[in-house]
Amino acid sequence: MPSRRVLIKSAIALLTLLTASPIAVQAANPAPVVATFSILGDMVERIGGEHVAVTTLVGPDGDAHVYQPTTADARAMAEAQVLIENGLEFEGWLDRLVNASNFDGIRVVATNGIKPIPFEESEGHHDDEGHHDDEGHGHNHGTFDPHAWHSLRAAVTYVNNITTSLAQNDPSNASVFYLNREAYVAEIEALDEEIQRMVDTLPSDHRIVITSHDALQYFGQAYGLKFLAPQGLSTESEASAKQVAVLIKQIRKGGIKAVFVENIADSRLIEQIANETGANIGGKLYSDALSGTDGPASTYLKMLRHNSTTIVSALGD
Ligand SMILES: [Zn+2]
Repeated sequence: MPSRRVLIKSAIALLTLLTASPIAVQAANPAPVVATFSILGDMVERIGGEHVAVTTLVGPDGDAHVYQPTTADARAMAEAQVLIENGLEFEGWLDRLVNASNFDGIRVVATNGIKPIPFEESEGHHDDEGHHDDEGHGHNHGTFDPHAWHSLRAAVTYVNNITTSLAQNDPSNASVFYLNREAYVAEIEALDEEIQRMVDTLPSDHRIVITSHDALQYFGQAYGLKFLAPQGLSTESEASAKQVAVLIKQIRKGGIKAVFVENIADSRLIEQIANETGANIGGKLYSDALSGTDGPASTYLKMLRHNSTTIVSALGD
């Protein structure tokens, strides 16, 4: 004999079936969206608000270069209506996950339409050992530098692509998404100007920034800083002794005051370089992931502001 509780539950379920039209159910339910890493996840939440339920695959302080998808990721993908990825071969593991999960929604490349920095022009990259493309191991040495979110101007393109896809997936809330987009872009543009003013205070001979891996070329290009890194574009690439020696020479010759660790990369090499050159550790930069909610870079905009103030206060007088 069914318990009282089961009977009540069945009655509620029946009532729900009788009263809710399919359209009403859809409007009440947030659209399941998958974002590949924390920066995109934050952008999607800003634009989608209560109308999206975002699953972020590579979370705060996570390294998307070397990520291994889980079965929970595959389940989230199977249910997702929209998938937002960075593209430019940043997520080398994504195609296999998509194929394995029967994803059947709208797939959006957030960098679509930006002007990517070609791999070869990436000055901080010292790849003396040649190029080893190894698709089978998820290496992501693409043709272009994938770290475009470090440009707030490129971020506007990210936001536009995300907005268009959410609106396409859920036209009944399109006007909300476009309003959210407008407010967000205004904040992005204000921060862009603020950072430019901040960086402009640095003397021209205090504009070289050393980080672990080569993630901040877009930031450098936007504001007039030069970024150098012992590791290449992916945290997977190994820094050779020769690359490190070249960098140490540059730091001594250029009188570079500070070097920076990253939230997603091993800090030991940077610490070693600091010891050998007498440069300070200027602080921690958030390169490929946000911080946790208690950290200084819990949103995309906080991350860009934190990185800028950290760099400018360490390299300024
Ligand atoms: Zn990276």
